Amino acid sequence: MDIIHLLPDSVANQIAAGEVIQRPASCLKELVENSLDAGAKTIHVIVRDAGRTLLQVTDDGKGMSATDARMAFERHATSKIAKAEDLFALHTMGFRGEALASIAAVAQVEVLTRRAEDEVGTLVEISGSEVVRHEPAQTAVGTCMKVKNLFFNVPARRRFLKTDATELRNLINCFYRIVLVYPDVHFVLVSDDELLYDLPKSSLKQRIEAVFGRTMRNGIASRLVDVNADTAAVRIFGYIGKPEDAQKQAQQYFFVNGRYMKHPYFHKAVMSAYAGMLAPDHNPYYFLYFDIEPDAIDINIHPTKTEIKFADEQMIWQIVLAAVRESLGKFNVTPSIDFDREGEIEMPQAGSGRGDAKMPQVSINSSYNPFKRAETNYVPGNWQQLYPSAEEQRQETAESEQRLFAPDLSQATPYQYKERYILLPVETGLLTVDQHLAHTAVLYKHFRKQQADKQGVKQQVLFPEVLDLNAADATLLVQIQEELEYVGFEICQLAPNSFSVDAVPAELGGGNPLRTLIGILHELQETGGSTRETWEQRIALSLAEDAAIKRGKVLQESEMRDLLERLFALENYQYTPGGKRICSIISDEEMERKMK
Ligand code: ADP
Ligand code: MG
Repeated sequence: MDIIHLLPDSVANQIAAGEVIQRPASCLKELVENSLDAGAKTIHVIVRDAGRTLLQVTDDGKGMSATDARMAFERHATSKIAKAEDLFALHTMGFRGEALASIAAVAQVEVLTRRAEDEVGTLVEISGSEVVRHEPAQTAVGTCMKVKNLFFNVPARRRFLKTDATELRNLINCFYRIVLVYPDVHFVLVSDDELLYDLPKSSLKQRIEAVFGRTMRNGIASRLVDVNADTAAVRIFGYIGKPEDAQKQAQQYFFVNGRYMKHPYFHKAVMSAYAGMLAPDHNPYYFLYFDIEPDAIDINIHPTKTEIKFADEQMIWQIVLAAVRESLGKFNVTPSIDFDREGEIEMPQAGSGRGDAKMPQVSINSSYNPFKRAETNYVPGNWQQLYPSAEEQRQETAESEQRLFAPDLSQATPYQYKERYILLPVETGLLTVDQHLAHTAVLYKHFRKQQADKQGVKQQVLFPEVLDLNAADATLLVQIQEELEYVGFEICQLAPNSFSVDAVPAELGGGNPLRTLIGILHELQETGGSTRETWEQRIALSLAEDAAIKRGKVLQESEMRDLLERLFALENYQYTPGGKRICSIISDEEMERKMK
């Protein structure tokens, strides 16, 4: 007897469903993508019990004919491609014609749909791949898909689901990945009768604000810095957060040609652009969109995968780094001390809706352009020419900034307040400077210079102290010994885990150099920097923090002037390399308001 037979469709579909529909969130993704493919301008999502009992997506898209409404649930039924070549010119999210067949295999589905040209619409009900009803019905133009009791016939899958809270979080994350790409579509999300999101059509910046703004004290839109890089290879645009807004957990998104993408490698490019600006363990938020020729990428066509391969990843890595760095550079250079009204720094941006109401009082240094060297004719392959070295950039910005923005110290007398702040009248108000943070920034720059020149100022220790370390710290110390010598340490290994410290950075003065040294080791162990460059930055920052004058130290006028002068000579005197705010202005208006 022959034993091979074809599986019934319902079984084949159930097996396929295992791949495509793993949880309510993957089902939601497929439904909403279908609505977008149908040209919807408004999409309402209703979920119940985190999608277990109901996932409903209603759109005002083009709808389906009576036959199509039934056909849509067949395996490999799609209106989006007809021949193999179409695969290379996709303009839709879906194309495999697999989603609805899969969903219908593992749930009870009800679709109500009508095209604009039809008087009456259609109702189709399917349960576990069996058509239960197919009849004319009254309904608005568009499509309403109801997916009930997901996995009702696959108990194993059902048990595999996480708690409602987790599944709802998955649903919401899936929702974010879509609404952040389609700001021109109105989305509503309701969960268990509670309205979670109502996101009207808006600009991209407003969409980000509407989604994430409420979790931030003063909203997010005014704190976003825009990114824009247009090369022949790729266009990158979007927004990034300022270093001081970095958080332990931050929203970070890459999208490629409208699809959400995970890309650990490009993530590193973004993080490198922020190097030295972030507090330990803090992450900046970013929303970066790539437009690229479809033939330069390989979208893993598996529907649940979010990895995308690029033909030339290294080149794009460099472009990402340069683009983010340029934006951060602009942000550092742009806001002048005299017009920084407490966090209102905003890049002027054409037609950015809400932002227009209060055009920020920021002067743009329009001459600043890190791409200056090669603005014109980009040719793939020689992109390196586009980007001057970081050092060149720094020098350029430092010069232009000093000229433009440094307050005139000869016009006013600084005053020390509570042994902590330096106050200085400037044109638009009262400048307040945190003395410890100001000195930290100044010293950081100083140590970075010593590292570049490889000569720190040493102070020999009369009676060298012996440092006994655990094995991990000892290994690290040997690794970074050279970097430590650049800034003035002299360390001699006595035994595998034992060292003598013969000289210390002169700047540490009366401090406790050994504690600083151990602090550096622990800092590096925790943050796990791996390149010499990050080691050097961390070392410089730790030293600067420990060597900087403390709060509570009384300063003479000459010392204050000296500190301010050195501070304003920095390219970024508003924030420490760790991202803390150094100075701020209390404006005349604010004071007047207080006096009323
Ligand atoms: P795919 O999206 O890969 O084509 P699906 O199984 O997701 O496959 O959908 C099958 C077909 O059903 C689509 O090609 C489309 O023609 C139709 N369809 C699905 N959802 C909608 C909708 N919301 N509005 C209009 N047509 C739809
Ligand atoms: Mg689809």
